[in-house]
Amino acid sequence: MVSVLAEPVADEPKVAQVVSTESESGPPLIGLRGICKHYGGAESGQPEVTVLRGVNLEIRAGEFVAVVGSSGSGKSTLMNILGCLDRPSSGTYCFQGQDVAGLDADALAWLRREAFGFVFQGYHLIASETARENVEMPAIYAGLSQVERAQRAQKLLERLGLGERMDNRPHQLSGGQQQRVSIARALMNGGRIILADEPTGALDSHSGAQVMALLSELADAGHTIILITHDRAVAAQARRVIEIRDGSIVSDSAAQPQGAERQPAAQAELQPVLPLPVAGSTPPLASIANARSWWADMQEACRSAWRGMRSNRARTSLTLLGIVIGVASVIVMLAIGEGARRQVLERMGTMGTSILYIGSKPPATGGPAGELSAEDLQAVRELPEIRRVLPVIGDPVTVRYGSADKQIYVFAASHEMPAVHHWSVAQGRFYTDAEDHDLAPLVVLGHKAWRHFFPDTPKPLGLQLIIGNSAFEVIGVMSERGAESGAQDYDDMVFIPYRAGRARVYQSQTQPDYVVVEAMSSAQVNEAETAMHQLLLARHGGREDFGIGNAAARIQAEVATRKSMTIMLGLIAAVSLVVGGIGVMNVMLMTVKERTREIGIRMAVGARQRDILRQFLTEASLVTLVGGTAGLLAGLVIGVVLILADVPMVFSVKAMLGAFACAVITGLVFGYMPAKTAARLDPVRALAGE
Ligand code: ADP
Ligand code: MG
Repeated sequence: MVSVLAEPVADEPKVAQVVSTESESGPPLIGLRGICKHYGGAESGQPEVTVLRGVNLEIRAGEFVAVVGSSGSGKSTLMNILGCLDRPSSGTYCFQGQDVAGLDADALAWLRREAFGFVFQGYHLIASETARENVEMPAIYAGLSQVERAQRAQKLLERLGLGERMDNRPHQLSGGQQQRVSIARALMNGGRIILADEPTGALDSHSGAQVMALLSELADAGHTIILITHDRAVAAQARRVIEIRDGSIVSDSAAQPQGAERQPAAQAELQPVLPLPVAGSTPPLASIANARSWWADMQEACRSAWRGMRSNRARTSLTLLGIVIGVASVIVMLAIGEGARRQVLERMGTMGTSILYIGSKPPATGGPAGELSAEDLQAVRELPEIRRVLPVIGDPVTVRYGSADKQIYVFAASHEMPAVHHWSVAQGRFYTDAEDHDLAPLVVLGHKAWRHFFPDTPKPLGLQLIIGNSAFEVIGVMSERGAESGAQDYDDMVFIPYRAGRARVYQSQTQPDYVVVEAMSSAQVNEAETAMHQLLLARHGGREDFGIGNAAARIQAEVATRKSMTIMLGLIAAVSLVVGGIGVMNVMLMTVKERTREIGIRMAVGARQRDILRQFLTEASLVTLVGGTAGLLAGLVIGVVLILADVPMVFSVKAMLGAFACAVITGLVFGYMPAKTAARLDPVRALAGE
């Protein structure tokens, strides 16, 4: 048989030192008076069952008591009340002379943690944790550091003959071994009072004998042992036997005063009485014990959350998928929306956010098309809403260089052409106003036109192009404009001065083909349109023989459309994020349901409601954190693929952070409810796995 725990209390951690033996004259360690327990009743709609009927019982420190009774006599109910896992329906329970009725859930958790150690018939070990981790658990809630915890758990397991089995999980251990692990766990925080409910009930006789010997040794070492059993032979090994029948105590071997000789030697040294927390106030000792760092708590919560996630990989990854899709779609959709918006904006930037066109046309009332005279244009130019007026003549004309010739669009306009089109010269220069006035035969090439006529000439400046029948000198090349939707390809044109064009190429043309007008600002395009309309109408004697095209307004409308499209996309993505969040909630609820027993075990060893709350909240946020990160990466990858497929996308850091934050917040919000549900569980019901 393992030699156990010969050295008594000196070895226990300080937090437990306070739970003590007391002198014979003081109040008993545990005093029950008229304890009754009913289940059901009118409120619950169930028939009322009375399980305990006025139990009176005193237990002094250091006693080894067996409560014996047949099945259903109320033993477990009594034990749950003794261990502060459950409250009596009536009667008083005094712990070291103080009534525990006034203690709140956290204070009771504290009392369980510091004073009691539970050993159950079904062992109640947490299946996903190793033997060592199971043993360590009570100390986590008592605030022992990880190193101390590990050392102490190791020592206890070694002393119980499980040195080799420390890293095994419960299912890898025999029943006897599991029960010894649970005894080690009961001793982890000191285990001043060991409450053992049918500890041998599930064991073979040999293992059962081992466990009984162990309890005996613990009793010798000064621990108070309360053993619950239906087996008289087992009960006989205790030093005091109490018999319970139908919820009442029918005999007690210690009815006559117990001799002081029963007290083991270890109790000789008197220890301070456990300072019971005053109802409502924070337990003084608990606050010391719980001054453990927030960081250590978080680490612990993360560790167990990670384990929870891993133990249910398939489900976790499905939940993760929800979050990943949510976050990735928010990021991608916003990037696509923004890309489309930018594309339009860019076009606006080059074509001008403030460009209007005027052309002449036959009026609807019949008659010839009007003429836009130089005076008309001058008058338009003088309107306050107008910045520039650019009359244009343009037609496909045969252009030759050496033996190469091509029909090409020859764009005749003033020197203001690059300014109006927000366009720059890449090589050489543009012609000046003076040159325009002098009818100078100069030409500036579009990028493609240059490539066409001078494929081998990097610098075509000074060369002569024949446009129509006249020679024009190349003085510049425009920068590349790139493809633009709608408009003709500006890169494939050549540009000549307006007057030279009229004089040398477009001799028959008496007026511009159309006029490009630039408004003072993009905000003023509509005012500019109205003003021009009124002006020209007046000048043309009321005949509407001209037309005004408002390109800017069209583009602006398009931008607005794109913007609302972005918002729509964002909303759809946000909905998927919420759906992901609901997935988290669903999984957390299932997790809580599945792990009720684990929650009960944790509560029995002293976890407070907030410890449970924190654990499950951490689990929820860990899922969303991991999902959010994966979603971010997935979004970026999808984005890169789309960019490679030429979809315009603009990623915004703000959108990414936003989506990530949303995911985490969703996790917390949707994880809170299940976590709260877990924290509110009644320890007894949770232990029963209900
Ligand atoms: P023992 O441990 O002595 O076998 P228990 O204390 O577990 O007995 O149960 C005593 C009686 O109380 C049983 O008849 C049982 O049916 C009843 N009981 C226990 N828990 C509940 C409950 N939550 N609701 C209703 N009846 C209960
Ligand atoms: Mg029972």
